[in-house]
Amino acid sequence: MAGEQKKQYGRGAHECQLCGRKQGLVRRYNINFCRQCFREWAHSMGFKKMN
Ligand SMILES: [Zn+2]
Repeated sequence: MAGEQKKQYGRGAHECQLCGRKQGLVRRYNINFCRQCFREWAHSMGFKKMN
């Protein structure tokens, strides 16, 4: 039973809360969104463009 190091965490740890992507996470305002979802979320929340 080698290779048991990878534990599967539930959503919300280090992946996008919306799509589950782990790349380009934006961790602000206590959320975990990937950049793409963050853009859509921010837009829907009325945020202005941010890089
Ligand atoms: Zn996402």
